[in-house]
Amino acid sequence: MRIPVRSGRTFRVDSPADHALVTLDLARELERVLEKFGMDTGNNDRFRVGIFFKPGIFGHHKVGRAVDIYAVGGLGLDKWKRLWDEARHRCSCIPNLAERRAMLEHEQERNMGWRLYKALQTCGEWSKPIGYPIQLFGPWTRSEGPWKQISNFLLKAHRDHIHVAK
Ligand SMILES: [Zn+2]
Repeated sequence: MRIPVRSGRTFRVDSPADHALVTLDLARELERVLEKFGMDTGNNDRFRVGIFFKPGIFGHHKVGRAVDIYAVGGLGLDKWKRLWDEARHRCSCIPNLAERRAMLEHEQERNMGWRLYKALQTCGEWSKPIGYPIQLFGPWTRSEGPWKQISNFLLKAHRDHIHVAK
């Protein structure tokens, strides 16, 4: 049986229900993590952060054990990553360490793509098939983990979305 991921009190699923039809186990885990993410980023029942899924085809997707998140807060993950890279580049041009750190913290605070990735990484429990890495891939996997050795091919395949499986 596969069910849609439901909106919560602090997050709202913006995509059609059939974009994320998943197992009960995955739905509950995602809803738990997204609720915490929504709360940590200052959302509430009057203003909920938007999440947009697109259906996947291969592997865990076939049996509803995976989702692909393409947008958060109305902006695509590829755009969040570009903003992140631009901020990192601006940081690298600042010689003063304290200023550089403050600027990086500012970007960490406002970048919803990065924050969603970190929330999924630190609060969620995802599938780890024997002999395979933890099934969380996205634009930040090489820099943030959990699988920093991700191949160029796989990283490129996840430059515009986050994939998680359970
Ligand atoms: Zn996927």
